[in-house]
Parts: sequence; structure tokens; C-alpha cells
Amino acid sequence: MALNVICADAFEYNNERFADIQMLRYRLNGFENLSARQKALIYYLSEASLWGRDITTDQQGRYNIPIRKLLEQVYVNLSEKESDEARHFITYMKQIWFGNGIYHHYSKDKFTPEFSEKWLRAQVKKIKVEISKKELDTLCRVIFDPTLLAKGVNLAADADVVLTSAHNFYGDGVTQKDAEDFYAKMKASRQGSDLPMFGLNSTLIKEKGQLKEDVWKMGGKYGNAIAKIVENLKKASEYAENDKQKEVILKLIKYFETGNLDDFDAYSIAWVGSLDGMVDFICGFIETYGDPLSMKGTYEGIVQYKDMEATKRTQTISSNAQWFEDHSPVDPRFRKPQVKGITATVINSAMLAGDSYPSTPIGINLPNSDWIRAKHGSKSVTISNITDAYNKAAHGNGFSEEFVIDAETRALMEKYGDDCDYLHTDLHECLGHASGQLLSGTDPDALKNYSSTNEETRADLFALYYLADPKLIELGLLPDEEAYKAAYYSQMNNGLMTQLVRIKPGNNIEEAHMRNRALIANWCFEKGRKDNVMELVKKDGKTFLRINDYKALRGLFAELLAEIQRVKSEGDFEACRNLVETYGVKVNPELHKEILERYAKLNLAPYKGFINPVMTPVFGSDGRITDVKVDYTETYDHQMLRYSSQYAAQ
Ligand code: ZN
Repeated sequence: MALNVICADAFEYNNERFADIQMLRYRLNGFENLSARQKALIYYLSEASLWGRDITTDQQGRYNIPIRKLLEQVYVNLSEKESDEARHFITYMKQIWFGNGIYHHYSKDKFTPEFSEKWLRAQVKKIKVEISKKELDTLCRVIFDPTLLAKGVNLAADADVVLTSAHNFYGDGVTQKDAEDFYAKMKASRQGSDLPMFGLNSTLIKEKGQLKEDVWKMGGKYGNAIAKIVENLKKASEYAENDKQKEVILKLIKYFETGNLDDFDAYSIAWVGSLDGMVDFICGFIETYGDPLSMKGTYEGIVQYKDMEATKRTQTISSNAQWFEDHSPVDPRFRKPQVKGITATVINSAMLAGDSYPSTPIGINLPNSDWIRAKHGSKSVTISNITDAYNKAAHGNGFSEEFVIDAETRALMEKYGDDCDYLHTDLHECLGHASGQLLSGTDPDALKNYSSTNEETRADLFALYYLADPKLIELGLLPDEEAYKAAYYSQMNNGLMTQLVRIKPGNNIEEAHMRNRALIANWCFEKGRKDNVMELVKKDGKTFLRINDYKALRGLFAELLAEIQRVKSEGDFEACRNLVETYGVKVNPELHKEILERYAKLNLAPYKGFINPVMTPVFGSDGRITDVKVDYTETYDHQMLRYSSQYAAQ
């Protein structure tokens, strides 16, 4: 049976590297323990999700699909791959696959080909690609002219963001004003507070001077791909784990059939309420970052199943929430008499598609509709096998060798680092944010622009304080009394030094989580100086952190937590500003320069993405799926070429 079990040690998380990208693989932990029904459900949901790939690609630029098709023909027929031109071409092809088009997935800038137009035209001629001269000329202009359609999404305030963005959500000649007026009118035509997200699932076009929506639905725009999505959703519905889940799938099918956004809302409400199954998914037009007006949803899909081990961990933490609250080192007046921990849902991703592939989020919080969130709530999950892959892939990338003081500390972090990381996140999310109370009469907005830094600092300190508590060993969450030291070292090292790799020279720290880490690290470093709790030492001209007294460091975390909680409970704005501005914002320019130089030498890829597993169903004599095999050996280019032919709906 369980042929898809693979040895943890043998799994290669890192795959190939090109341009600014490092490709990784993720592992379907515990997939082999799912029932045949659950596996079949995952399989058909995955098929449904993958069928939308060309929608995403077309949404992100009208020439994306013809360019990809042309280049793929050249790619598979390359007779030599060693020349500079060929190597540059291969990199460009891989970038286009990664970006689902000719724009960078993050910066939205057009990729710059480093091979020549002449070389490309010669290849096209050599392999006799069937393409008209006019079309080839157009595609070459789009590829090689850096000024033409330069930005996928242009948010510059002084421009018509619709006309100057190349993403393909608005038809020829539609201006920003056209779109804004059109949707303002649409909104005005409907009363009530439960309005759908107008414009989410259509291209706005101009026909004979009239604006109208070309809706993405069965029989409409992208109808072929959507028909395939629906076909597979129907098959998936036959394997639903319960009635609620089946209802979710059927409501999504209805929405794809009608294109009516009220149907989408009905689906979203059912989805928010569907919590019991092991399997869940998103598939459709979800996030609006790809549209400069933030209205149009880019197609994406993620198929997922619960991570039972991690969910057990968060349940253990939440069910002991009152014990943690009662023993926290803050003034008893600031503790909650009745605290309810939050159980975070942790999932494994089984398939990534559309805008979530190959670059993918590590957490999801949906739906985006404000009124549904207010009235029906939202679902929030973290994706453990993706986070796990990031962590595992980072082992051995040289970072630890460069920035951790000695082999002993490195061994500690190697042994306990990942476990501590997950636990830190759980304690932060499930207890930290939920802990504490305001004194009566305190204005909840008293900390103003410093409130989010205060809040993150508070949650982090709560987690750090308890990471060293014997209670965690008693609850079976940590193996022994050494483990917490890995978290303490990495917290301090990150806050004092390594997180600075994300700051440009001369800049201050702005982001709340980064400010929180700097605040904690700098405050504890200063307060611990007289007892030599920790020190910065020089080895071969490089600065390293050495922690001499981990127990004393826990005492400092307790002291700072008490103060940070007091500041919040009393709404002490002045004290809060003082703490943040003194410890959380400024950067030591000399140390910063040193860290940046050391980091640059490691030559790590700034962006990462994932190769999907390959799922193969096994059918019984009755035509029902009896098992699904998972394979992790497909290469990046093979997967991309396979998707292009297998899920071509245009
Ligand atoms: Zn937080």
C-alpha cells in the first residue's frame, strides 16, 4: 500500500537555482495516513485547481500565453544549451514560468532577456515554428522593447494606473476614470451593507464606446478552462467528506456556472462554516493585488489537508491557556481572569496552482469580503509543510556558519531550532496576542502608531518567556531543558544583527515585527550588560553574539514583558514611544555594513518557489479511486511543460 512514504532524510528540499530564484520541494507529510476517499478528494480538487493555470497567465498580460507558447517550442527544440545566448534564453524561459508571464512575481517589472532578438528569430526559423511574421514581430517587440508594457502593475500616483499597467484586467482603451465611474455606478445601484466585491470576476471592456463586463464563467471569458475546473469539482464532490463540504463544492460550481458574485458570496459563507473535514481548498478569483484598482481577482488554487500533529500542539497550548495566563510575570491586575486560547489551524499544502504557484504564501486568511468577515467570520490557517520546506532548505546554506558564534551553538540550533520555531509561533499566536487586559478606562487606541509594535513585542515576549518553562516539557511540547536555548540564541542574534540584512544602508527599521525583535534584543542586551548576560565579540574581524547566561536572559524577558504589558494596560503612550524609539528603530551603521557584506558573500537567492508533487490515482474495478500515489521527482522544466500541454484550455 503505502508506496508514497519516503524517508525524511532522503528528501531533497532544495532544487535548482536560476536568476533570483531558488526552487524548493515540499513534502506531503502524513498523506499516506489519509483515507482513499480523502486522497481522491484531494486529487480531483488538485486537478480542478491546475486547470486554471492559463487564466492566471492571461490575466497577467495579454501576450503572456503566446509568448510562453513560442518560447516553449524553442526550448524543447534547443540543439545546444551551452552558448551564452542559449543559457540566457533558458533562464528567461524559467523566469516566465515562475512569473506566470513576462513580469516578475514580486516587483511586477518586466523581465529583461539577456539573449538577442536575432538569436531568437534564428531559432524560430530553424525549427519552423508556425507563426505569422506580424505576430512574431509583435511578440518580439513585447519581449525586447523595455519601454513597451514595462510594468505589470503600476501604482504610481501620477499615472492612469489602468492604462499604464500591463495586467490584462481591462480592455483596449479603458481608462482608470472609466473603470472607477463604471463601478461607482454599479455600487450605487445596490442598497444594503452586504454588497459583493463588484468587478472581482470580469474583464472590463469597451464595445462600440460602451463599457461592459466580460465575465469569467462557463460559456463566458475563460469558459473552456472554467468548464474543466467545474468538471473536476463535480468529481471531487462525489468524494466529499461530509455534507457541508459537498455543499461548499456545489456552491462553487454554481458560481462558476453563473458568474454571479452573489453566488460567490454564498459559496464563501458556506466555506467559512465548513470546518470539520480533513481536506479543504480554495480555487477561484481571490486576491486583488494584481489589479492596480484592487478589484479584479487573480486566479489561484491551494488544496490542503490538516496537519494533525501541529493542530494537536495548538490544542494543547490553548486548553492550558489559563495556566499560562495565571503564571505570567506581569502585574496580576493586567492578567485576564478568564482567558481563552485560540486554536490555530495548521495545514499541509497538497497542490499549489495559479497565482499561488510556484511562489506561495505561508498562511491564508479568507474570505476578503468585509461584510462576510464581519458577519460570518473568516478562516485563518498556516501552512506547515511550506514553512518546513523553507526551514529545511535553509539548513546548510551557510547562514548559520557565517553568523552563529561556535559549533556548539550551531549544533544546538540544528537540533532544536525548527521545533522551537513552530512552538514560538504557536505560543505567540495562540496565547501571546490573547493574553492580558486593559485597565478599565484605558483607551484601546492610546498607543497610536506604536500600538502594533507594542502588540507584537508583547506576544513575542510571552512566547519567549514560556519557551524556557518546565511546563512545556511537562506538556510534551519540548523534549528537554536545553531546547529553549536554540530559540533564545536565534531571537537575540536576529534582533541584534541578522535581521538587518533586510534593511537598506542608511534606513531605519520600520516594520512592526522587525521593530519588535530589535526592541527586545537591544533592551535585553543593554540591561544584561552589567551582569555579562551576553556580549558581542570579534572573531577574525567579524562580530558574533555570545550568550553567557540563558537563565538570566529569561529573567530579562520577564522584566520587559511586565513593562510592555503595563504600557498597554495603562495606555502609557510616552513610555511606549520611548521604548520603541530607543531600542526598536535605529540601526548601528557600522555593524549594519558588516552584516550586509557578510550576507552578500553567501549569495543566497532572495525569492523561493515550489515544484508540485505529481499525483497518480489508482482506480478500482468500479472506476472509483482506491489510492493516490505521490511522486516528488519531476523536474521544474518538465512540470512546467507538462502543465502547458496537459492543462491548455485556450
Ligand atoms: Zn503577532
